[in-house]
Amino acid sequence: MSYAYDPQNIFAKILRGEIPCSKVHETPHSLAFHDINPQAPTHVLVIPKGPYVNFDHFAAEASEVEIADFTRAVAEVARRVGHAESAGGAGYRILSNAGPDAHQEVPHLHIHVFGGKFLGRMIKVPE
Ligand code: AMP
Repeated sequence: MSYAYDPQNIFAKILRGEIPCSKVHETPHSLAFHDINPQAPTHVLVIPKGPYVNFDHFAAEASEVEIADFTRAVAEVARRVGHAESAGGAGYRILSNAGPDAHQEVPHLHIHVFGGKFLGRMIKVPE
């Protein structure tokens, strides 16, 4: 099992401060910022600071501290944007694309957090 991480991807540049982002939340091992092309009233991306291509890479090679930090950062974002039911909201959706069939555009693990309106049932798959 091997994973090739490209340090020139756009989220790596955000992490290095070479490109700005609209920050929502930051922890020792994770960063959350608004998606530049939002697909819902709330569309936040949560990324680990470590160099992981996708979710299976992260699960295989990240430390337990990183995994716990990242998992909690995603949940904290859902609360901060007000959509977690525990924060009085009406719910949210999380999603992570991995590889070409999922149309992953940026090869650095990111969880999309969507909310702010009724999101319908799951996803529409093209014919
Ligand atoms: P994916 O298709 O799952 O790889 O999603 C990549 C996401 O990154 C898309 O929703 C883009 O709109 C978003 N994106 C690309 N560049 C930036 C950026 N500089 N700042 C914030 N979001 C970005």
